[in-house]
Amino acid sequence: MTALKLRLAVIDYDVCKPRKCSYECISVCPVNKSGRGVAIDADMAARGKPVIYEDACIGCALCVKACPFDAIYIVNLPQELEEEAVHRYGVNGFKLFRLPIPREGQVVGLLGRNGTGKTTAIRILSGEVKPNLGRVEGPEPGWDEIIRRFRGSELQTYFKQLSEGKLRTAHKIQYVELVPRRLKGRVRDLLARADEKGVYLDLASEIGLDKVLDRDVRHLSGGELQKMLIVATLSKDANVYIFDEPSSYLDIRERMRVSKIISRAARPGTYVVVVEHDLSVLDYLSDNIHLLYGEPGAYGIVSKPYSSREGINIFLEGYLPAENIRLRKEPIKFRKPAEVGLDAKPSGGPRRIVGWTSLKVELQGFTLEAEEGELSGGEIVGVAGPNGIGKTTFVKTLAGVLKPSEGAVYPYVEGLRVSYKPQYISPEALPDATVFEVLKAANPAAVVPGSWLYLELVKKLRLDRMMDRKARTLSGGELQRLAIAVSLSREADIYLLDEPSAYLDVEERVNVARIIRRVIETREAAALVVEHDLMILDYVSDRISLVSGEPGVYGRVNTPRPVKAGMNLLLQELGVTVRKDDQTGRPRINKEGSYLDRMQRARKLFYAA
Ligand code: ADP
Ligand code: ADP
Ligand code: SF4
Ligand code: SF4
Repeated sequence: MTALKLRLAVIDYDVCKPRKCSYECISVCPVNKSGRGVAIDADMAARGKPVIYEDACIGCALCVKACPFDAIYIVNLPQELEEEAVHRYGVNGFKLFRLPIPREGQVVGLLGRNGTGKTTAIRILSGEVKPNLGRVEGPEPGWDEIIRRFRGSELQTYFKQLSEGKLRTAHKIQYVELVPRRLKGRVRDLLARADEKGVYLDLASEIGLDKVLDRDVRHLSGGELQKMLIVATLSKDANVYIFDEPSSYLDIRERMRVSKIISRAARPGTYVVVVEHDLSVLDYLSDNIHLLYGEPGAYGIVSKPYSSREGINIFLEGYLPAENIRLRKEPIKFRKPAEVGLDAKPSGGPRRIVGWTSLKVELQGFTLEAEEGELSGGEIVGVAGPNGIGKTTFVKTLAGVLKPSEGAVYPYVEGLRVSYKPQYISPEALPDATVFEVLKAANPAAVVPGSWLYLELVKKLRLDRMMDRKARTLSGGELQRLAIAVSLSREADIYLLDEPSAYLDVEERVNVARIIRRVIETREAAALVVEHDLMILDYVSDRISLVSGEPGVYGRVNTPRPVKAGMNLLLQELGVTVRKDDQTGRPRINKEGSYLDRMQRARKLFYAA
């Protein structure tokens, strides 16, 4: 057995509030009480926040239990791991062990829960953070020591080149909405300035960014910002290309296009590293995958590299055999529609909410048509389609806010109410209020501890730890969870959630799918969930509705169909075929022109899952 001697004490200083507690953490510590040493102490230089000395601490975890705010995390790890510590943020900060290994000419993918160090790892690989090898006191390690640490692996050569300035890196950041704060001006000028290879116009036209080149960056949508950053990164004359979540805010077609241009960057002499939570995209894009595991916010360990198929399957299974590590109690399983009878009937309950005949809605410059349909309480209709295609317009028509010029809407519920979560949440547009205040304004019951809404939304979306923080200071993933809680806490008959999975990790996406289901079943409401992650679309939907046309000009909403039929039609429109993975049942995109691709195409079986 491995000796567990490496003590790790991490304090979340965002939630630690010495002014609101009585230093329970310090008063219960047996080491301090014994008088033989000090394991935990108030650090007066840091506004009285506590500091834990790992050498003196015996790991009893009494302080963890005593803290009223759950601010402390203590764990004992195998001693050998210490030699593989790569970076630590401060004395009781997050600690990263091991690193992913970039491979020349290949795309290396990173997959793991939010807060396990993916961004830290790529900031180290891109040279933005110099690794301190876990040493937070004393002199920082020099490059010689860092290079020696990685001897025998490809990282040795990599860091040698990086330290000698022989690697030029280009890094697409995760949160695209931060860009308009830092960059000003027209898209065309910004891209022209970033371009070192004379390729930006070609790339922009290949991923459909050419229409907005003359727009000011302040007026771009989330998806347009994402594409702009991807083009800017790829137009750098670099030999390391790093992409942190390139698919957020993009529709499925755009995700495929972006995957193609990113894969092309992996040539001899270049390294490509990608963090991505859309598993179909990650699978399609990467040659190798490293999983990151550990305790979010406390520590992260990078696994050995796996092939993309094996890595994703192990991740879903939740068990790493080589490391003998369990990632979570249960595997993540993907229902197969036929097995749960979804192809037979929609799972909606008896409460009918709204019906409509075929419709036409004419706005200035935009026309929407819809095939007839009906929504029932307790059902989730997955909506697939690009942005600006009329999904919001359609729901406004169902709610009676917009009037159709042809056809009619039949609400079965008086005063039909809609609650909407927009796709893109600009930090600038947020009120100057705390998470608590924002939730309370949406529904006072949501902030009453013990109420079903509090348990279902605040607890399960882990907002309880951030109630006092200003909404404006939240990260993209935290803001997404708040926006989901706000829209689901409102009383409504139809919930329209536009891309609730952006910035969430796979576990959170599955968790959100379950939360949506419980809320709409309790309220006998219906949900329309716009989802661009194929696997989550399949997972979340009882039925699927496609919206196609020309964004900003014309849109057509299809009647909601059973999942399998809806997926088949969607993939046919996209021109891709998808097979089922034998082991996990997850959908996998076939490589264009492969044997399975040709065979499925010939049989018009676009979705063989
Ligand atoms: P991921 O990309 O997997 O979500 P990150 O690498 O962004 O993970 O962060 C891992 C943890 O490291 C975070 O939960 C945070 O607590 C901590 N962290 C990240 N950046 C810093 C920093 N600059 N200073 C202190 N702690 C940080
Ligand atoms: P989605 O929800 O699919 O992103 P929307 O329904 O919000 O799309 O918008 C579809 C198109 O209709 C967009 O081009 C938008 O600019 C346009 N549009 C939305 N509301 C109006 C309106 N009141 N008048 C004119 N055009 C509108
Ligand atoms: Fe108080 Fe907990 Fe912070 Fe200790 S860790 S000072 S008990 S909030
Ligand atoms: Fe003290 Fe135990 Fe907390 Fe360590 S884990 S600081 S020994 S109370």
